[in-house]
Amino acid sequence: MFNLAIQVLNSMKRYFALVSSKLAQSSSSTQNTPRVEENLSQLEEKNHHSAKKQKQGVNLNSLPTDSKERKSIWEYHPNDRDEIRQAYIQRGSHQPRVLEFPQSDISRLKRRFNHKWYKIYHDWLEYSEIEDAAYCLCCYLFQDKSIHEGGGEAFSSIGFRSWHKKKLDTHDGGPNSDHNQAKKKCEDIMRQEQSIQAAFVKPSNQIKLEYRIHLQASVDIVRLLLNQGLAFRGHREDESSLNKGNFFEILSWYASRCDRIRDLVLKKAPKNNQLTSHKIQKDIVTACKLDIVKAIMEDLNGDYFSLLVHESCDMSCKEQMTIILRYVDSGGSVVERFIGVFLVYDTSALCLKEVVINYLTQHSLSLSCIRGQFYDGASNMQGHLSGLKVLI
Ligand SMILES: [Zn+2]
Repeated sequence: MFNLAIQVLNSMKRYFALVSSKLAQSSSSTQNTPRVEENLSQLEEKNHHSAKKQKQGVNLNSLPTDSKERKSIWEYHPNDRDEIRQAYIQRGSHQPRVLEFPQSDISRLKRRFNHKWYKIYHDWLEYSEIEDAAYCLCCYLFQDKSIHEGGGEAFSSIGFRSWHKKKLDTHDGGPNSDHNQAKKKCEDIMRQEQSIQAAFVKPSNQIKLEYRIHLQASVDIVRLLLNQGLAFRGHREDESSLNKGNFFEILSWYASRCDRIRDLVLKKAPKNNQLTSHKIQKDIVTACKLDIVKAIMEDLNGDYFSLLVHESCDMSCKEQMTIILRYVDSGGSVVERFIGVFLVYDTSALCLKEVVINYLTQHSLSLSCIRGQFYDGASNMQGHLSGLKVLI
């Protein structure tokens, strides 16, 4: 049992050295914060690109200027609408200079568009040369969807041709008229900092950055403790304890030396998101384990290997089995890698065989690649008739 424990520990240490060298290529504990920011900026860039990708269908520079040629704002993709609105507002209302506006014969009254109206209603009145009709820019941009579905309204989609100033004044309406509400929305959309989108995106990016720094601190400490084979917990981890165990003591030390960590962990962290509970520590250890096994399997690369299996019971008398792989690595050296401890409910050769085969199958390792088997001295392991060795 003692020899087994020593072997397992040595194997783990060698193994962590290999994995640490691999992981070190992608990270360094002293450069965590910049890397987190880098990742975040990549994430933001990715989001920006994906958002941009969705908007590629609309070229803001080639939006039609004449109201008759425009399609309804509701026909654009929801993600594009605000940008289109901003582009139109920046351009200003379409007021072409026409030498002589055509005369229309509506209700036998010979009337025509008056260019003086451009000045009076400069912020919204538009004129369509194609149709000889007036439109409202604000009402076009923020037309109610029900009006659009119900066939549209004169100033937003159909076109207004009753050339009379009084009727234009009527459209202007009171402070709560549909037109004035649309006008207010136009002003709001041009104030970027007040838009709902900006209100959501800004804090969420900040929260993401802080969460990553916070999580990275816990991950770094778990990796350090695993690498050194140290215990995580102390006998007492409450506030009054003088020694709260390796995990909390190292986290406190880390926070005292790094300003960015200090402001986000322990007492500064939200009470429901401390990232220090035993469950979280175990989750991070499991994630490290998966990463390590993945690195070993990549190193083995489906080649021949020898199987080293040991079985013994722990202090609480639970039967456990360890599996170690021995193979020639990519550099030509013979290496032994400890890949895990497995709980077995039965020490019969059949049960052990099932655990071994399940594990090898999970990692796409074929029994036909086994070139050697090593077991401890128990009879059910190397029995000549029905031992694990014979079964495998
Ligand atoms: Zn209007």
